Amino acid sequence: MNSDAQILIAGAGPAGLSCALGLLRLGLVPRIVERVPAGAARSSPRGLTLRPRTLALLEPLGVAERLIAAGHKVSALRVEEGGRVLARFDLSTLACGFPFVLCLPEDVLVSILMERVNELGGRIEAGLAVTNIRIEADSRVQAHFSDGTEAVYERVIGADGANSAVRTALGIPFTGYEYPGGWFFSDEAVDETPEAGVLSLLPGGGMAFTLPCGAGRVRRVSTIAFEGALPLPICVRRAQSVERGGVRLIGTAAAAHGPFGGVGMSRAVEDGLSWAPAPDDSAGTGATDQTLAAMLELSETVFRAGRIKGGAGRFFRAYVLFLCEKVPGFRRRVLRALSGDLSD
Ligand SMILES: Cc1cc2nc3c(=O)[nH]c(=O)nc-3n(C[C@H](O)[C@H](O)[C@H](O)COP(=O)(O)OP(=O)(O)OC[C@H]3O[C@@H](n4cnc5c(N)ncnc54)[C@H](O)[C@@H]3O)c2cc1C
Repeated sequence: MNSDAQILIAGAGPAGLSCALGLLRLGLVPRIVERVPAGAARSSPRGLTLRPRTLALLEPLGVAERLIAAGHKVSALRVEEGGRVLARFDLSTLACGFPFVLCLPEDVLVSILMERVNELGGRIEAGLAVTNIRIEADSRVQAHFSDGTEAVYERVIGADGANSAVRTALGIPFTGYEYPGGWFFSDEAVDETPEAGVLSLLPGGGMAFTLPCGAGRVRRVSTIAFEGALPLPICVRRAQSVERGGVRLIGTAAAAHGPFGGVGMSRAVEDGLSWAPAPDDSAGTGATDQTLAAMLELSETVFRAGRIKGGAGRFFRAYVLFLCEKVPGFRRRVLRALSGDLSD
């Protein structure tokens, strides 16, 4: 245990570990506690993709090359309807250091981030949960742990997932909605790994996504149930406040939105990295809100387009996709959005 720590991170998932790396880079050694005991499997399968922007943010922390070595690069995306290709997008034309989406299982990401945290002098206390949180009059935070101990911190980072104990202890509402009908997914073995990710628009309304994961595997995600598929709940929920006293919520503890276009894991990492101020800087960078709002708007547009059933609507959709591929300004926007740049 780091008994001098002034910052506590609850949860060693993608968000908590990324936050820890950001703090370690500033020379701050946080205390990191993780409810799941060492060696125990996290619930899986989960997140699978890291977008170019996330890799660029992770590069200065010395992990991008390791992640790339462990993952599978996907540079092309096709949109199809009934086997007919409506549009193709080639990420390799992006003017950025990482012109591809990296497919990498979440447990591999977590173990590489943990390895780096240890190299930089951090330590993860596995099998120890935060059970309660109380904000004191001077904004410092008293934390209670599952082993019966308690301690006071300048800052507590709640990176403890969608059912956050930190958020619950503070009584912060987590409100939103569920996507009707549910989604379904499976990880499957295939004879040959496809080169491109494929978004299939289904004739009866709905969509399916096939993502190559390397080593003869693909992930299929669909709005229609299929054989061997598991249900994938997609909900959009946000904490009414992400900052209270010395407590900050990040990752899924702050906002849950399902995998939404494969960006859940990327957003958790970016959120973790966006918060790395010194303990006396209570503001943090708080990049989350804008990015999240832009991402949800984009996802809603894609979902709405995927639900179109009628002939005229489908014709219009195909025309818009044609323009998105062929008109350079539109194509650049699509590619930038895929890379994680939602600035306009
Ligand atoms: C089935 C499924 C499929 C998904 N597919 C994709 C996908 O294809 N692409 C994609 O980008 N994203 C996907 N996601 C989303 C992605 O997994 C999440 O966005 C990401 O895991 C969020 O990271 P996080 O660090 O915020 O939270 P989590 O990964 O939930 O990490 C929270 C951590 O906190 C720990 N913890 C919990 N409570 C406590 C406590 N009281 N004290 C201490 N520690 C605690 C937990 O054990 C956990 O390790 C998927 C999610 C699911 C469930």
